[in-house]
Amino acid sequence: MRERLPESLQQKIEERLRYYEDLGIRLFYRDRSASLISRGNDPPEVLNASAVRAAQEIALPKPKIEAPKAAAMPPVERIEPVIRPCGPSLFEAVDKVADDTLLKIREDIGDCTRCKLHKGRHKIVFGDGSATAQLVFVGEGPGADEDAQGLPFVGRAGKLLTQMIEAMGLQRKDVYICNVVKCRPPENRAPEPDEVATCSPYLFRQIDVIHPKVIVCLGAVAAKTLLQTNRGITQFRGQWLDWRGRKLMATYHPAYLLRNPNAKGEVWKDLQKVMAELGLQPPKKKSS
Ligand code: SF4
Repeated sequence: MRERLPESLQQKIEERLRYYEDLGIRLFYRDRSASLISRGNDPPEVLNASAVRAAQEIALPKPKIEAPKAAAMPPVERIEPVIRPCGPSLFEAVDKVADDTLLKIREDIGDCTRCKLHKGRHKIVFGDGSATAQLVFVGEGPGADEDAQGLPFVGRAGKLLTQMIEAMGLQRKDVYICNVVKCRPPENRAPEPDEVATCSPYLFRQIDVIHPKVIVCLGAVAAKTLLQTNRGITQFRGQWLDWRGRKLMATYHPAYLLRNPNAKGEVWKDLQKVMAELGLQPPKKKSS
């Protein structure tokens, strides 16, 4: 007797795969220990070949189907791709896409409506700077000026960031600047977890493509997103941390420094550590 995949399961799988494809993720690893369908003597009847073929390429938990009872179908919530700790993670899998480029990532984003932030944005703020930068700054999300111009860190906080970069002996064109979310949150609120979860894979791909020596997280949202932690930024600010084999330093956001100028000294100390790591010297002061 042949088992049929329930339609709800097919739909769920197709939606999930479309979602990953929208994100530009097309490479999956198969966990051979996982099986979509219970083993019987008869192979499953294929109702939707593409859904089943794709489902067999990703790791899925074993649903408990007690043949021949057609009614004992697996609960829908169990049908999720499982990234097992022993295998490569989803983002490690993306790493293997060697020909990824910033242009491809931008094309994958397209005229994005994947999260609710698209409703209020004017321009997607993808990122700016050198595609081969040794230093990447990651902020939280665009503000009003950035939303209007389509460029990151061009408002008051951006001017302060530019001063900080120049104090390190660099120019903006020497580094890469981007944000966790590419569209402006309303009223400049912090991006919400679902928005971060939807948009951050693009950030991860950007960093992978640029392959910097050092990542500087500007503020708690960037640090928490990359480090996957709920700890407050004050607990690890100024320390060298690891993000997938790259050095990461979290420091305060320039917008915070505008409100709390006394914290500038601490940020400068953090940036001096970055300079030492990159072998940078502060620019010599012009003699009058
Ligand atoms: S914030 Fe990111 S995921 Fe959300 S609409 Fe903008 S580009 Fe898309």
